[in-house]
Amino acid sequence: MEDCIFCKIIAGEVPAKKIHEDEEIIAFEDINPQAPVHVLVIPKKHIATLNDLGKEDLDLMGRMAMAAVHVAKLKGIEDSGYRLVTNCLAGAGQAVFHIHTHVLGGRQMNWPPG
Ligand code: 5GP
Ligand code: ZN
Repeated sequence: MEDCIFCKIIAGEVPAKKIHEDEEIIAFEDINPQAPVHVLVIPKKHIATLNDLGKEDLDLMGRMAMAAVHVAKLKGIEDSGYRLVTNCLAGAGQAVFHIHTHVLGGRQMNWPPG
């Protein structure tokens, strides 16, 4: 989609440090990391928010979860622990309106997240 920064990363129009890619998903380093490991997992399909998911996306969301676990293993945080976060709408802190899962770890992740 035009004017979507993540669609531009998918298209290769904006550079990113990609660490995983398959037919439906890419994962890349967050530009402003909030933890020693901070990777974004995104679908290649433009879906603005969690509220826009349809039944046709069920399989994709399963693949997103598996891709996030794959990233945690690539980064060596599968045993120390990690957190997956998807913010929905501005009230939850969503700034980029192309759904993404944050993979955060490499330090103690506190709760509540704020
Ligand atoms: P949100 O606040 O929408 O849940 O998360 C958006 C995330 O995307 C933020 O953590 C932000 O640092 C990251 N981000 C925004 N623009 C870019 C970019 O151009 N490149 C990369 N690698 N990350 C970005
Ligand atoms: Zn997009």
